[in-house]
Amino acid sequence: MKKIVVLATGGTIAGASASAADGVAYRAGEVPVGALLEQVPGLQQLLGDCALAAEQVAQVNSKDMDYALWQRLALRCTHWLAQDDVQGLVITHGTDTLEETAWFLQRMLDVAASAGVLRAEQARKPVVLSSAMRPSTARLSDGPQNLADAVSVLLDSRASGVLAVAAGHVHAACDVHKVQPYRVDAFSSGDAGVLAHVEEGAVRWLRDPAARVGEADDLATAAPAQALWTAVQDEETQWPWVEILVSHAGNDGRSLGACRQAGVQGVVLAGSGNATLHEQVEQAACALMQQGVPVWRSSRCLEGRAVPGAESPVPLAVCRGQVLRPVQARTEMVLQLLAGVLPAEAATAKTSA
Ligand code: ASP
Repeated sequence: MKKIVVLATGGTIAGASASAADGVAYRAGEVPVGALLEQVPGLQQLLGDCALAAEQVAQVNSKDMDYALWQRLALRCTHWLAQDDVQGLVITHGTDTLEETAWFLQRMLDVAASAGVLRAEQARKPVVLSSAMRPSTARLSDGPQNLADAVSVLLDSRASGVLAVAAGHVHAACDVHKVQPYRVDAFSSGDAGVLAHVEEGAVRWLRDPAARVGEADDLATAAPAQALWTAVQDEETQWPWVEILVSHAGNDGRSLGACRQAGVQGVVLAGSGNATLHEQVEQAACALMQQGVPVWRSSRCLEGRAVPGAESPVPLAVCRGQVLRPVQARTEMVLQLLAGVLPAEAATAKTSA
């Protein structure tokens, strides 16, 4: 019998407030996963003859996401995905840092396949992040519908890789980002557009979800993959300090120097427009790179992606031919440093577009 496993981490989807009218002053990560699943009408019919297992991995507000939980989540994912009867995973998660966890998990599953921890087809099973913008105690909580839609997507034979399902839309891990602090339809896939819509339990695919999943790159080759996997398994691993700094009007680059003084190991610059940097920020970035600290550039624009071609001594943060958004780029730099793909001096060579 096939099985779906729900890994719960907290978030607003598990939030509780004193009043059903309160959609703001609630506590995220309060309601246990069993109770969340009981709130989903018709879940049994949706599942058909597929079994359901649930595990409370954590109970946090995702604004407080940390590396220890990322490590645990990566290990629980590979544990379950390695089992032949497991069709895929649903991960309940807060919306605030969902895009960071989505990118982290997609990269870790690519790496798990390259490191021989999972077979390729196991690493491509669907892992669906499910969230909500209203707590489970709200008058109109969006959690139960989002959970039901996540299950519908998991059971669809085309589903593959790390996905986020919310407000009837299916997003790919490489594209999803939160664009709304309050509205229920809080995520966008930017220019790429959503992968699919979920309508009355049916998934209408607009793009092939498997298109980018498992594509090879520097991180997902055997030696770095082994190194990264070893680091992620080890609770003692010191995760590198990589900071995002914004280029803005009146910027004199002092924040880069201050971070360097404090021991920063990598910097992602959220540049204006097409990843452009204030001239003083660029100078400060060059000084850091000369000292062996990797610095990448991305765009602080909310939609679209920076287009390579403009001259700058600071390399763009590129993965698989696309410029990463700042929070993705930060995660990517952390992983590349852990994997040894990015010895500081080689930063430019590894990322130039
Ligand atoms: N702060 C919450 C969280 O990220 C917000 C949410 O889930 O919508 O856990």
